[in-house]
Amino acid sequence: MIVFYFINFMTFSSFAQTQQEYYTKKLGTYFSHNQTKNYISITKFGICIFNGQSDQTEIYLSWENVNLLSPLISTIPESELKKLLLDKIDSVPYYVQKDSIGVRNPPRSIKGMKIAIDPGHIGGAYHMGETESRCMTLSIDSSKQIELVEGNLSFFTALILKHKLDSMGAQVMLTRTDTGLSSLGITFFQWKKKIKNKKYLDSLIKNNLISEKGLLLLKKHLDDKQLFAQVFASVDMASRAKKINAFQPDVTVVIHYNVNEKNLGWNHTTDKDYVMTFVPGCVTAEDLKTVAGRLNFIRLLISPDIENSVKLSSAVVKKLSSKLNVTVAGQSDATYLSQACLATPQKGVYSRDLALTRLIKGPLVYGEPLYQDNNTECLLLTAKDDIIAGKAVSKRIELVAEAYYEGILEYIK
Ligand SMILES: [Zn+2]
Repeated sequence: MIVFYFINFMTFSSFAQTQQEYYTKKLGTYFSHNQTKNYISITKFGICIFNGQSDQTEIYLSWENVNLLSPLISTIPESELKKLLLDKIDSVPYYVQKDSIGVRNPPRSIKGMKIAIDPGHIGGAYHMGETESRCMTLSIDSSKQIELVEGNLSFFTALILKHKLDSMGAQVMLTRTDTGLSSLGITFFQWKKKIKNKKYLDSLIKNNLISEKGLLLLKKHLDDKQLFAQVFASVDMASRAKKINAFQPDVTVVIHYNVNEKNLGWNHTTDKDYVMTFVPGCVTAEDLKTVAGRLNFIRLLISPDIENSVKLSSAVVKKLSSKLNVTVAGQSDATYLSQACLATPQKGVYSRDLALTRLIKGPLVYGEPLYQDNNTECLLLTAKDDIIAGKAVSKRIELVAEAYYEGILEYIK
């Protein structure tokens, strides 16, 4: 068994001489030194994790234990991982022998593959898009305006992708089942009513779907936009991640559509158009303040989730760029790329600390294929020039779904 894991480790570390060198390089590539420096030390014996308050090691992982845990740490429930790493570190070899039977082999064909798709945002009627601040009305000329709701574009793209994958025998799970619905299965306005019921609120607390900060904010008199942005959005994100992790997918696809960040107000079009993808990493010192945050950091560092996400995202970004004829974004093409992300070794793939890149376990691609407010894209996105599964859709979003599909095929080759 040890030999097997060593081979597995070597497959994604062939360019490194030793584990110390490999993980030191990985830490420097996908994480910011300033954010993590008080929390980790990598030595020739293994990895030491600190709580950020004292010099005492909180968790020590020998290289042997890193090797044993690497292939299955993403399948261990948080509560078990906490017990194992904090209290029972000596029993790692026993635990691994007992649990490795359930570890899935990497997929080699779409047939039987488990794929989670998260259509970003919620969408629905234009009014709902306003509440979640994810819609725009673009003036084309004095007589023509175009309305776009990102949550609807992402949902129909997800539906087309699901249709393609289903027909090839994959097992596909969508985090939300219709436009206007959150991953909780209800609309924001239904949730707003439900949250007044103590039993429902208790169930959110019990399932770790609402934070302490969220609970405090509920007591304030927030308007709909504030309640959505400051409380509901993070409950919905936690619920999406929980659903995805319970499904234990081979890959996760998170679907979004971007805008030009400088085109504030988004009431006219611009000529900018870029494609980019995000992968996990870049955790912040704030994330690392809690034990749960530090355990997740260990998971991201020692599992191959980041490496596999980069491989998947690189395949997807190339397909999106060539099929849509959209330029791959360089790091200076957007402020958030240069200020909040790290460029990975693959073009157009950026490490970013988003709720879903942080919380989803396993390989993922978080795609931003094009800018909706681009002067050509907005026309293409709203053209109902194709019919898929009885629904009138735009050929442009069908191309996007096709690119994700081909990217997944390329990834498992
Ligand atoms: Zn989005």
